[in-house]
Amino acid sequence: MSSKTVSLENISSENLIVAKFGGTSVADHQAMLRCAHIIKEQPNNKLIVVSASSGVTNLLVRLSQANIPDDEQKQIVEKIKDIQLNITQHLALEERLNTEINQLLNELSLDAKAQSVSHSARVSDAILSYGEQLSSRIFAQVLQSIGVNGEYFDVRQVMKTNDLYGKAVVDLAALKTNSEQLLIPHLQEKVIVTQGFIGQNNSEQTTTLGRGGSDYSAALLAEAVNASNLAIWTDVVGIFTTDPRITDQARAIKEISFGEAAEMATFGAKILHPATLIPAMRQNIPVFVGSSKEPEKGGTRIQKSVASKPTYRSISLRREQTLVTVKSPAMLHASGFLAKLFAVLAKHKLSVDLITTSEISVAMTFDNPTGSTQALLNSTVVEELEQLCEVSVEHDLSLIAVVGNSIHQTNGVGTSVFDALSGVNVRMICQGASEHNLCFLVDENQANEAVEKLHKALFPEF
Ligand code: ADP
Ligand code: ASP
Ligand code: MG
Repeated sequence: MSSKTVSLENISSENLIVAKFGGTSVADHQAMLRCAHIIKEQPNNKLIVVSASSGVTNLLVRLSQANIPDDEQKQIVEKIKDIQLNITQHLALEERLNTEINQLLNELSLDAKAQSVSHSARVSDAILSYGEQLSSRIFAQVLQSIGVNGEYFDVRQVMKTNDLYGKAVVDLAALKTNSEQLLIPHLQEKVIVTQGFIGQNNSEQTTTLGRGGSDYSAALLAEAVNASNLAIWTDVVGIFTTDPRITDQARAIKEISFGEAAEMATFGAKILHPATLIPAMRQNIPVFVGSSKEPEKGGTRIQKSVASKPTYRSISLRREQTLVTVKSPAMLHASGFLAKLFAVLAKHKLSVDLITTSEISVAMTFDNPTGSTQALLNSTVVEELEQLCEVSVEHDLSLIAVVGNSIHQTNGVGTSVFDALSGVNVRMICQGASEHNLCFLVDENQANEAVEKLHKALFPEF
């Protein structure tokens, strides 16, 4: 591993950088100012993608639900207004921006009212989009306040998607041509500030790309404008060996390959949205991850090839997993059982995450971030499955993934991992399908303990 401190100074100065600032980085005026200075100090930061100010999207999620009482709706809109006005009070606000913010908050109230009368996925996405619409306008003004020529750009002009509200799929070809026409020409003379997370379908309705989607938006934009680098500014000084909130033994990784980082993100390392590295890998765009609070500390550089490929790179944790085990003696030597099983799941649009099988049983995990899978499994799916086999459903599990290199070919991995976990009830184990990871389930209430124990064993202090 390179011992050099990685910082944006290492990025060549002729090039175009897309920089994404997450929720905590644009949480308040101080935080926004820090980000503005990062941009000012490295003038190649030309296209800026921002998330909603910290906490705003969670409030909007509540507002997007059905049957929210009038009083609560008003309170939520007021809270959002407070978060944003706490920032704008430090700015000499142009009248135009003041009007736009008020207009957006009024539209939000109207959408929330409509949603409580008749709930729709379309209005839900419209509601969720206000956080980024507000923060990007305000951030452009913060840039101007320190003399950077920042200009707001509505990403929906270029980020065209399908109709899948809540998890919309981006039209890459349209993004590319729209960016060439509408975005790239402005990057010469201005710093463009735009929104992560949101897009627009063919009927000109606002869509969203899924929670945490701003990282992915930034990577897609980096690909579309042919950026030389993508910088993800967040609240930690890079990618760590595990979530630093779980153990203070976690340490920052200086360099990591696309493949390793993608695996970490897929298995729940919240630091990056799981899809972020797909566009970066396609276009071979190095990604930097650092802290907007401590930019001088450098961060992690993610790129195609790295000097070191250790057996153990990191431990990821994904909570709220549901395990479904189906059992049927009919499976033994019979063909067609799995096909019937998957037909039921496909009919209900349930996507299986991990799967293991024995002669007469199949164990499957489902990611359950919003409780939606849980709700579905509680309903007719289980009844339909019960017509085929015995079914058991267990909630409140966590998926732990040990990410590394050639894990499938390295002797002693199983022993090191499972010896470290004595006292932890380990459930379904998956290894072999990927060369980069070994993963298993544990009870939710033992998840932190399991990660701490594993981290101690696999990443001992030097
Ligand atoms: P942002 O709002 O900037 O997108 P997120 O909260 O989505 O930030 O992601 C940053 C958080 O990811 C960190 O505060 C950290 O707790 C968590 N995290 C999870 N796994 C890791 C990891 N392996 N390395 C660093 N941070 C991690
Ligand atoms: N604001 C959105 C969310 O909180 C998107 C993002 O921050 O990446 O999920
Ligand atoms: Mg994030």
